[in-house]
Amino acid sequence: MADKDSYDLVVIGSGPGGYVASIRGAQMGMNVALVERNKVGGVCLNYGCMPTKALLKNAEVLSLFQRSKEFGITLDNLRADFSKAVDRSRKVATRLSKGVEYLLKKNKIDLIRGTARFHSHSAPTRLNEKGYPQGQEETKIGITDEKGKDIREIAGRNIIIATGSRSKSMPGVNIDGKRIITSNEAMVLKDLPESMIILGGGAIGVEFAYIFAIYGVKVTIIEMLPHILPIEDSEITAILGRSFKKIGIDIMTGYRVEGVTTGGKGLKVRLSSAKGASEEKESDIVLMAIGREPNSEEIGLKEMNITIKKGYIKVNTRMETDVTGIYAIGDVVGHPLLAHAAMAEGITAVETIAGKERTMPDRLNIPSCTYSHPQVASVGLSEEEAKKRGYDIKIGRFPVRANGKAVAMGEIDGMIKIISDAKNEEILGAHIIGPEATELIGEIVLAKSLKLTPSDISKTVHAHPTLSEMIMEASSAIYEDAI
Ligand code: FAD
Repeated sequence: MADKDSYDLVVIGSGPGGYVASIRGAQMGMNVALVERNKVGGVCLNYGCMPTKALLKNAEVLSLFQRSKEFGITLDNLRADFSKAVDRSRKVATRLSKGVEYLLKKNKIDLIRGTARFHSHSAPTRLNEKGYPQGQEETKIGITDEKGKDIREIAGRNIIIATGSRSKSMPGVNIDGKRIITSNEAMVLKDLPESMIILGGGAIGVEFAYIFAIYGVKVTIIEMLPHILPIEDSEITAILGRSFKKIGIDIMTGYRVEGVTTGGKGLKVRLSSAKGASEEKESDIVLMAIGREPNSEEIGLKEMNITIKKGYIKVNTRMETDVTGIYAIGDVVGHPLLAHAAMAEGITAVETIAGKERTMPDRLNIPSCTYSHPQVASVGLSEEEAKKRGYDIKIGRFPVRANGKAVAMGEIDGMIKIISDAKNEEILGAHIIGPEATELIGEIVLAKSLKLTPSDISKTVHAHPTLSEMIMEASSAIYEDAI
């Protein structure tokens, strides 16, 4: 094998996990190859976080125009062209993907186009003083083109698997990409349907529900669990439900999808409720948003003896698989399926390779965000979960409508809720629904990670007027001294 085909680090997949890991590896002096079979930037930049945030911005702008009277502005003939929103969103995705390509080049990372699969059947087992496996053969990776033809073999002393995830389907539902679609098709819809049923009320389903409802589509969300955004605090999701109702979104919780029948004009979604009743709902389009599944089947993990659990690769807090020299990060290792978690995991893996002491933070210190309107953001335990775990809790709440900046902005729906341990004041969880919730959560993530208490936050002077004052007030409310 030629020298240039041998690397300190081979990363498979260029999503936020893979590109961040590659760049950090190169910054630390490693000779890095990054293999990607599709667009650079993975789901996040091309079909996930970023294009949806661009569409959400369009929906927010349109929503402001729709509310123009409130601001004393008269508008005639307001028209919104969704295809222009799609164009803008695609431009955002392309620009960001190109930006990452530029960074890869700048950091002298070899970007190899193709599909990677392990060729080795055994893995190195000993590490040298720098942390690189040595004494045995490097791990070999075969690369094929889109037709499955072998194009190259490379070898890496360390491998990071960052192959991500894809939309999940369900039995009885045949995704045809036209009338029964996933988020990939939803974000590039040419013509808006009159009605849409969204199967799944998680973050992806909720964000699309907001976008399409603002653009005039009659949206119904169907969720099997008792409330939408099932991992969020139920008091917060109740507020979201009320906001969504105001813009005409129907929410059906506690319904299981039995199947979707195509043919005829509309699609028929067959449902059964927890109480055993059956129901049928019709719509022009069904968007499948019931979750994601890992891309772990086709890379040869079994031959490498890498342990997989329900499709997800098993790793420790340093992102090591149980085969020395092979790491896995991002969606392919499981929850939380979030870009910022993938990035942090990528840095953790690379610094571990370089022999630094670094582990992933506790899952309960990683924020979750939903960028609908109102936005939802949280960190740590919900009230239900904290009680289930037996904590004696104190809760501080502050309504958004009592914040001056929010009132001035005309964004009064929402609340901040901070949950602390009554015994030692530890912040157990924080939940925000309202304007800029996804930006505001950062302060509480930092406080929680550094083990600050609500009392520390309440004594910190926050600028006035800002939305961040709500965090100070909710913290004070725990001690019943909110202003
Ligand atoms: P991915 O981004 O999935 O990238 C994996 C890459 O690996 C892909 O490019 C794929 O082509 C490549 N690949 C796979 N197998 C091979 C192979 N064998 N050889 C070569 N290449 C391969 N998260 C957030 O934090 N915030 C959000 O706002 C957000 N919004 C989202 C909206 C939508 C609609 C979706 C679908 C997801 C969203 N997510 C969001 C989740 C986020 O996109 C993922 O958590 C993130 O992309 C995972 O990163 P990753 O690096 O693990 O893999």
